Amino acid sequence: MTNTPNISQYQQQFVSQIAQQKLPHALLLVGHQHVGKLALANWLVSLLACLTPTKEHNACGQCKHCLLVAQSTFPDIKHIAPNGRNIGVDEIRQVSNFIEKTPLLSAYKSVVIEDADKMTVAASNALLKTLEEPTDDSFLILVAQDINALLPTIVSRCQQVFIKAPIHDEQRTDQNKPSALNSSHLPELSDEEIATEYQAFIAAFSAFVFEQKPINKVLPILLATPHNWRWLEKISSDWQRAINGWETASDAQLITKQACETLGKDKLWQLYQLTVSCIQHQKTFIQSNDQFEMEKYLTQIKTITNHEE
Ligand SMILES: [Zn+2]
Repeated sequence: MTNTPNISQYQQQFVSQIAQQKLPHALLLVGHQHVGKLALANWLVSLLACLTPTKEHNACGQCKHCLLVAQSTFPDIKHIAPNGRNIGVDEIRQVSNFIEKTPLLSAYKSVVIEDADKMTVAASNALLKTLEEPTDDSFLILVAQDINALLPTIVSRCQQVFIKAPIHDEQRTDQNKPSALNSSHLPELSDEEIATEYQAFIAAFSAFVFEQKPINKVLPILLATPHNWRWLEKISSDWQRAINGWETASDAQLITKQACETLGKDKLWQLYQLTVSCIQHQKTFIQSNDQFEMEKYLTQIKTITNHEE
């Protein structure tokens, strides 16, 4: 196993599940960028393939299977990653065909789907069929950053493993630091068009919070994107970072910091809490009306920031 403390706990979990022959046939490893989730997936499939694993539960790196794994030519492991921006239905059909076949060299076939949250809808539906008919001799490992971007029916058919980032000393001292503050990276923002939309979204929401723009001016902009609540969570948590000085500030962040300071820590903290509780509320009530919820949210923000309309 590795010396990375945040990864070794999951490795121990998998090793004991393998020993009890209880390793789930579908795993979903979720975590932020660079947290080690792909390394964990690769460690697991290499271990499953190895003929003579070490006492420390690593693949030996020397047996016939390990040598083929190292050359990426081991026939019972398949890797899938986005081809361009997405993972399409053709790639997932290859996975389904692969899963249906008998393993050639080892006792198991393993598939790693990297960036599984980038599957198209058609690809997701194809994968769902495979997940609904699990085979005893295969392991499917999905690796993703954004669990919300996956079909709930896919998520529910996998054992979910949330990989936490290693805790640094300076983070331990920030007792009040909200957990969602790690979500600074949203995968959809790598799309240029969506990133532009996001900038307009921030501008509208900032104008409402800091400059008392009326609700009816910002509401249409906030309702125009399906990402609105996740973006509101990101913005309000970014403001927490800015005002608490948790990040090295860029020019844009310095301007944000000044705006945040005019409102004050307490009000911004209330705004963050309100955002999180609105999002939780909507997860509980599936049929919530987005416009109604958003208007209610903005009205509550006005109560926090004390501006009349
Ligand atoms: Zn080996």
